[in-house]
Amino acid sequence: MSTSEWKPIIGLEIHAEMLTQSKMFSACPVVDSVEAEPNTAVDPVSLGLPGTLPVINQQAVEFGMMVGLALNCEIPDFNQFARKSYFYPDLPKGFQISQYDHPLAINGWMDIEVTPEQGEAYSKRVRIRRAHLEEDTGKLTHVDGGSLVDYNRAGVPLLEIVTEPDINSAEEAEAFGRKLRAILQYLGVNNGDMSKGVLRMEPNISVMHTGDTGYRMRTEVKNLNSIRNVYRAIKAEVERQIKLWESGDEVKRATLGWDEGKQKVVIQRYKESADEYRYFPEPDLPILEISREWVERVREALPELPDAKRERFVQTLGLSQYDATVLGQDKAVADYYEAVLAEGANPKSAANWIISSLFSVMNNAGVERELIGETSISAASFAELVTLVDSGTINKGTGLDVLNKMWASGQGAKQIVEAEGLAQVSDTSAIAVVVAEVLAANTAVVARYLGGEEKVFGALMGQCMKALKGKGNPAVVTELLKEQIDKMR
Ligand code: ADP
Ligand code: MG
Repeated sequence: MSTSEWKPIIGLEIHAEMLTQSKMFSACPVVDSVEAEPNTAVDPVSLGLPGTLPVINQQAVEFGMMVGLALNCEIPDFNQFARKSYFYPDLPKGFQISQYDHPLAINGWMDIEVTPEQGEAYSKRVRIRRAHLEEDTGKLTHVDGGSLVDYNRAGVPLLEIVTEPDINSAEEAEAFGRKLRAILQYLGVNNGDMSKGVLRMEPNISVMHTGDTGYRMRTEVKNLNSIRNVYRAIKAEVERQIKLWESGDEVKRATLGWDEGKQKVVIQRYKESADEYRYFPEPDLPILEISREWVERVREALPELPDAKRERFVQTLGLSQYDATVLGQDKAVADYYEAVLAEGANPKSAANWIISSLFSVMNNAGVERELIGETSISAASFAELVTLVDSGTINKGTGLDVLNKMWASGQGAKQIVEAEGLAQVSDTSAIAVVVAEVLAANTAVVARYLGGEEKVFGALMGQCMKALKGKGNPAVVTELLKEQIDKMR
């Protein structure tokens, strides 16, 4: 057997905290649960004290509806909260208020654009099974001799989005994750910061053999703090499962974690049987009827979403589908790109410079794309660079040097070009002198060229550029070289 006979089957469960002012069921403020002093944003409801009663946060319902509509879901006429009972110290009530039989949104889909490691880019549709509202739990920190609990996060509105198992590779999961995150960010309902846990993606993974007629046992990976790690964990887990099946062993139902240091999945616990949560309708909350007027009002107010943005980039700016997808799929990148355009840069050149150059500079420095707006290269100075190259003031090679210097020093493009005298030499008479000198010093190469060996032209060109310290306008140098050599024929 070989890996080509195995197909990964992946479904994602996504938890997104909603960026509301107050918690899901009380007026207690929502704070940054990583930055804030522990247990400073708590109230009797989020602490689950006896005698407290929950009240549904209307803004959270509307945010959840926005996500449902953006994911092409139906919004049923009513939804209902339910109690999910389990005991854990971060859940003081002994149950979580969630939704079960009657979620806020159902039966949606999202199209993804995938660029596999090998082969052509393609798009495919991933079905969304449901999106429902619930409350987040508190946070435990294990320390020497015990555990600490912080209830700031307890009761923060959480939207759980569940896909059908339509995802068949780590690349597809990555594309799905990026686009979903962009949608949440564009809607303004979540900031997409997976490192802080406000957005969490948990893949359910199994593998299917070519001869299989049904699904095999699946595992679930938790605690992934970036989309990159979702990708890596899926790759590793698919490989682990294939090995197990091929060696005659079997995959056991389990919850896994990701060990960042070892780049390995680790088994956290085996699941002998399905969890029994004793769901029942939450008696302290009414059924929530959703009027069609409300749904339509929310639908009409939706902002431009990634697909629409990509099409606008293609239609009105003339970008390729690929470039438009890459620039549109992270809100931070799209914002940066549009800020660069607002500073007057040419749309196609700016797209090229971001995708082929700025991304690699950032990549080399280990800076994630979502931080593009926070680097030392402001949109204004990046636009300056693009325009300096477009206008011929500097050539592409110099442009790359300048970009690296901008990254290192935080100085503007113009400032660097002026300070270092990097402006391109387009002055024909100055270049003509250099060309003549190079030809005189390389008579043997010239003879070969005249003898029909056209490829040595590049060597002569290189000599001229070197003599011009890389600042020669390549078009002018080429033209003058040809002109002077032709005179020698
Ligand atoms: P549960 O009710 O136990 O949470 P679900 O059937 O609701 O399980 O599925 C949870 C997630 O697991 C969904 O995203 C679904 O797409 C995914 N999933 C279901 N079956 C498989 C499978 N065989 N392999 C991979 N993912 C699966
Ligand atoms: Mg589930």
